[in-house]
Amino acid sequence: MGVLPPPTALKHLGQNFLIDPNIVRKIIALAELSLTDSVLEIGPGRGILTEALCRSAGHVTAIEIDPRLHAYVTERQSRFQNLTLVLGDAMTYPIEHLPIGTIVVANLPYYLSTPLLFRLLEQAHRVPRLVLMLQNEVADRLVAKSGSSVYGVLSVMAQYSADITKAFKVSPQCFRPRPDVDSAVVLLRTTDRMKQTREGRDQFATFVRAAFAHRRKTLVNSLKKQEYDPKHVESALAALHFPLSIRAETLSLDEFIALSDRFHGSLLPSPRRQ
Ligand code: SAM
Repeated sequence: MGVLPPPTALKHLGQNFLIDPNIVRKIIALAELSLTDSVLEIGPGRGILTEALCRSAGHVTAIEIDPRLHAYVTERQSRFQNLTLVLGDAMTYPIEHLPIGTIVVANLPYYLSTPLLFRLLEQAHRVPRLVLMLQNEVADRLVAKSGSSVYGVLSVMAQYSADITKAFKVSPQCFRPRPDVDSAVVLLRTTDRMKQTREGRDQFATFVRAAFAHRRKTLVNSLKKQEYDPKHVESALAALHFPLSIRAETLSLDEFIALSDRFHGSLLPSPRRQ
């Protein structure tokens, strides 16, 4: 046994520690790990998930921002030779240096879950799957379809990068301290679309952000305000038989892809700002 007492939870770092071993088992089962897999965990906390990951995978890299928790887990998990504990910020850690094929498994700090998701999705071409615990409301945004009030940039970009399943909900009782919101575990299996060139992915992301930038406006007006040439947007819409009055929130992922391809394809020039 270690000598360090478990550090108390800091709310501003999103420290709601999982205490239910059954949820840990379900997360591990969903990740389908083998003893040759390399895993990235963000925020090991007191190490409940880290320990299970070390038993199920070949190697685990766990990034923790809180030096108290880093020291605590370093002492508690010293028996695991396959664990690399990093003291650092997951927003700046060079994820791209991890081996291709690394699987991400994490109970994310909720205050940072959306920026972390975007950061992880940027590397989705290197990661076959991600199993993430996050706020139930964010899980709903990840799987939302067009027409839903929570459908937006996160939904389109996540579904562009991965096939997403909301696997199960987790009640606040499974954590200490208890979070104010329900949680959910999602499985993201990344798609071949991520094998596109960096330029292609960036173009699509810029287009989707611009489309949703002024949610209440029509797509043409929202893109115009983001300095896309309305004439080119209108011809792309006409070519695909979409009405000019269409709004971003009614476009499905496939329609976004078709429109962006049409826009950025050889037939039409790129937006003025690019
Ligand atoms: N994995 C543990 C569990 O399931 O009990 C802890 C999860 S807790 C919800 C989130 C963890 O992320 C905390 O340990 C917190 O200190 C850590 N964290 C918060 N911000 C971070 C950041 N920017 N980079 C790395 N870790 C961070």
